[in-house]
Amino acid sequence: MTGKPPRPARLVACPGCGKPTPFAPDNPWRPFCSERCRSLDLGAWASESYRIPLRESDPEAPSAESGDEPPRGPNTPEG
Ligand SMILES: [Zn+2]
Repeated sequence: MTGKPPRPARLVACPGCGKPTPFAPDNPWRPFCSERCRSLDLGAWASESYRIPLRESDPEAPSAESGDEPPRGPNTPEG
């Protein structure tokens, strides 16, 4: 017997895809399983954090259903 047996890395569910991922210093993307999941999650985070306050802080925002196009004259001079 020499030394102690290697301890298995703790497995955590990847926040991106839910795949069991080793939460160890060896995994640079922890707690994610890969760089892709990490960037994906970060992207989603940014999008959500931007959307949530926007919709919450502007309850009386003018409906953008109509009037989205810029004002145009009755006729456009051509030629
Ligand atoms: Zn993942």
